[in-house]
Amino acid sequence: MTAEWNREDLARLLALEDFSEIYAQADEVQRREKRDVVQIRAILEFSNCCRRRCRYCGLNAENPRVTRYRMSVQEMKEAAAEALEAGYRTIVLQSGEDPGFPAEDIGEVIRFIKQKGAAVTVSCGEWPSEVYAYWRDCGADRYLLKQETADPALYGSLHPCGTLAERVGCLRELKRLGYETGSGFMIGLPGQTLDTIAQDLLLLAEIPCDMAGIGPFLPHPDTPLRDCPEGGSELTMRAVALARLLLPQCNLPATTSLGVLSGGARRSVFSCGANVIMRKVTPEPYKSYYEIYPANLGRTEVRRERAELEDWIRSMGKTPV
Ligand code: SAH
Repeated sequence: MTAEWNREDLARLLALEDFSEIYAQADEVQRREKRDVVQIRAILEFSNCCRRRCRYCGLNAENPRVTRYRMSVQEMKEAAAEALEAGYRTIVLQSGEDPGFPAEDIGEVIRFIKQKGAAVTVSCGEWPSEVYAYWRDCGADRYLLKQETADPALYGSLHPCGTLAERVGCLRELKRLGYETGSGFMIGLPGQTLDTIAQDLLLLAEIPCDMAGIGPFLPHPDTPLRDCPEGGSELTMRAVALARLLLPQCNLPATTSLGVLSGGARRSVFSCGANVIMRKVTPEPYKSYYEIYPANLGRTEVRRERAELEDWIRSMGKTPV
């Protein structure tokens, strides 16, 4: 039945007065497909240099207030090793879109992590197919590249340096190369409607994505969108629940931005379809310079944060992995 939903159906469902039935269905599908496991992933933000000018992002190339950094290969290996010792089984290597960071250096870190038996997700933006193929050869398992919005006109207005067609082209190429491919989008972008979100959900299904990060837009004070209202957590959770029904096996993170909004009350997001959570393992001072959106970040304490997260997941009757 869900496979037959079209754009109008999805927009109508998102607007329902009472969404509890859909949440219950999403929870049931999540339990069937993912049992009670919550996957924990470590994210290492190794460079905040970026050539793009995405109007919502604090790291956009035109923001002069960012202290730019690039971690060395040695620093990246040390941070990854610390995360693995703390129990993480997946490292997400994320950065701005930074052509100044040698692809070979990223390749070396991918090989280092793979040798230690963990999985690697890369999230470094748009690159030529040869680079994606090279990182895959180095052992990268997954790639995260969000569509951001499936409306081509809205995409164009938010991204002076790229088109939706190019973004989707990259996602298809990543699939072709055998990556577990992750996309996703923001909720509450200025000009977005429920119909846009319906389009977003259908694009996830069309690719089809193996992972999808759906999170609220949070205005950053040093960007052109500083005065726009933030996205809603209820609408975000509705979109996550519908994504679970459209793509039963998809890995759906409870995004960090949703955590910022709900002040850590992410209990409910694990009962509406999400099954993954990420934790920053970026060492100081770099972590505080990687400000995509405003967030009150504490000091990085990899071991303690991992242990606390595991306890919290167990307190919900779920199993952290
Ligand atoms: N440079 C990489 C990584 C992007 S950062 C790339 O281009 O893929 C990860 C995600 O943060 C983005 O894909 C976007 O969805 C999200 N993001 C950026 N700015 C945001 C904001 N102001 N509010 C909420 N999410 C934001």
